Amino acid sequence: MDVLWSPWRYRYIAGLERQDDGATTGCPFCRIPAEARDPENFVLYRGRHNFVILNIHPYINGHVMIVPYAHVATLAALPAEAGYEMFDLTRRLTEILAQEYRAMGCNVGMNLGQAAGAGIADHLHMHIMPRWFGDVNFITTIAETRVLPEDLPTTYARLCPYFDQFPLAGQSPA
Ligand SMILES: [Zn+2]
Repeated sequence: MDVLWSPWRYRYIAGLERQDDGATTGCPFCRIPAEARDPENFVLYRGRHNFVILNIHPYINGHVMIVPYAHVATLAALPAEAGYEMFDLTRRLTEILAQEYRAMGCNVGMNLGQAAGAGIADHLHMHIMPRWFGDVNFITTIAETRVLPEDLPTTYARLCPYFDQFPLAGQSPA
């Protein structure tokens, strides 16, 4: 499925190519938290075990991901504390998306492994997408192409203020 008008996509891919020729692992979910470029990387929040980031290739406006710092591919390999925090962040993000985007519902889920459709299969991550009645428009239906009317900097600016209310209860700032 193609996405209409996604200039950031090409900038992102170019960035990966530029930075993967050095000593990095090549895993963007390991590289991004190691950098001090959260606004450029669209990192919304750094928790103790996970960070929250916009999906660079959003399926829909407001598509966010929760990613553990641990480079693990399976839920069994995910440290328990990271799993607890991931679910707590998931719960809070559904509330944030309902408030800011007036989401009527959310898709929450993980694609574990390439066979399940994971784009970055070696480093698991949780997707959260706001949904509205009627958001599958006719273009999607007839042409398998989506129109994304909001660019990533706008989404980032809308969601950032909600994370001023963090850290989460019982946690010290990262
Ligand atoms: Zn990784």
